[in-house]
Amino acid sequence: MPVKILIPTPLRRFVNGEKSVEVEASTVEGALLALGQRSADLRKQIFDDSGKLRNFVNVFLGDRNARELAATLAEVPVRAGDVIVLVPAIAGGVADVKLSRSEILRYSRHLIIPEVTIEGQKKLKAAKILCVGAGGLGSPLTLYLAAAGVGRIGVVDFDTVDLTNIQRQILYSTADVGRPKVEAARERLEALNPDIEIVTHSVHLASWNVLDLFREYDVIADGTDNFPTRYLINDACVLLGKPNVYASIFRFEGQVSVFDAQHGPCYRCLFPEPPPPGLVPSCAEGGVLGVLPGILGTLQALEVLKVILGVGDPLYGRFVTFDALDFKFRELNFAKKTDCAICGANPTITAPIDYEAFCQVRGAESESDVGQAQLISVEDFQQRRAAGEAFHLLDVREPHERKIASIPDSIPAPFDELPARLHEFDSADQLVVYCHKNGRSLDAWRLLRKAGFGRAYVLSGGVDAWAERIDRNLPRY
Ligand SMILES: [Zn+2]
Repeated sequence: MPVKILIPTPLRRFVNGEKSVEVEASTVEGALLALGQRSADLRKQIFDDSGKLRNFVNVFLGDRNARELAATLAEVPVRAGDVIVLVPAIAGGVADVKLSRSEILRYSRHLIIPEVTIEGQKKLKAAKILCVGAGGLGSPLTLYLAAAGVGRIGVVDFDTVDLTNIQRQILYSTADVGRPKVEAARERLEALNPDIEIVTHSVHLASWNVLDLFREYDVIADGTDNFPTRYLINDACVLLGKPNVYASIFRFEGQVSVFDAQHGPCYRCLFPEPPPPGLVPSCAEGGVLGVLPGILGTLQALEVLKVILGVGDPLYGRFVTFDALDFKFRELNFAKKTDCAICGANPTITAPIDYEAFCQVRGAESESDVGQAQLISVEDFQQRRAAGEAFHLLDVREPHERKIASIPDSIPAPFDELPARLHEFDSADQLVVYCHKNGRSLDAWRLLRKAGFGRAYVLSGGVDAWAERIDRNLPRY
């Protein structure tokens, strides 16, 4: 009976550029054999010499993985009008890639692994991987991908290297402080492996540029640290049909997964909505143990290599958490949501959206939000207080942060405790709140205003601005 086989882009050149081919068959295997008869070259792409379907080619019958429907594809029947989808693990012109003598020596420990061999190494060389974020996760990720011989590594980052980065971002040296991250990263990665290409993108990833950027790559690795970018990456990957290798870190905990709507659920299937603003602090606000991004970024590199090589079981539909203090890995299984807003049956998102609005970005991340708060500069505050004006200065940071640096005559009032301690303050008084920069203080200001503290202000720039402009003896962190 007639069935349709959808041909992925890299294989279309074997069928005169056709997007789909109709064949007569009664089983999935029969359909693939019939496809192979159309072109000997195509047959070599999807079957090995012994006639076995290559394991980096996935076969879907409708939306079901055909390999999961029966022990062999010869046992999976097809009906007239069925659609078979071929999904190679990676799109790339592997066949044309050659390894030089020095590359063969460089990668010899790969070549002797049966799961890699020279064919796998060629796949790595042909692969194009985009790492979004060249920070704690992006450091081990790009270093290992470069060392492993991934042919083209794109790095997206807009930041410059800061001294507070060096504690965990091992791509950089102390001498790199002040340099653009992508520049320092390119130099380091090229020194590590001159046989590969490093492409730098010094841009803010946004809804208007994400699709054009991602289109050039086979796999996207999400090493970012904020929700708007995570949702942006997820949505762009789903729209373009690319795998999204994900990791995230916070203090002593990490998460890793592989989202690929063609193989399973996406990030939105697991987290349809971002957490409310302020609930999850960023690394800059909450801190992170230096080695933790090393562990998670390395696991991310592992999953990228598996996806490229088409070996093992990538973390599709599996979400792994790591608790460094307990030394516990936990694996959680999750399924595709049929009503997922982007990868579900009736998606409501069909193009990248405005993620800052979706995630209700607040605090230091949104300038317009800062504009709404009543701000007082560190200079103004110091002068007015010195002139005898009465202020209660509330430090909404954690006690251990106060030990690093604090402003004289401030009252410790950690943000989490504030709601229960409002009765300690008089709403008729002038209150000034500060934190490290301006994340928690804005949330605290909002809380105070709601509770009727009409004379509450935010110390603009927090203790960091104080240390920079008022008391230079105070350490900055
Ligand atoms: Zn989804």
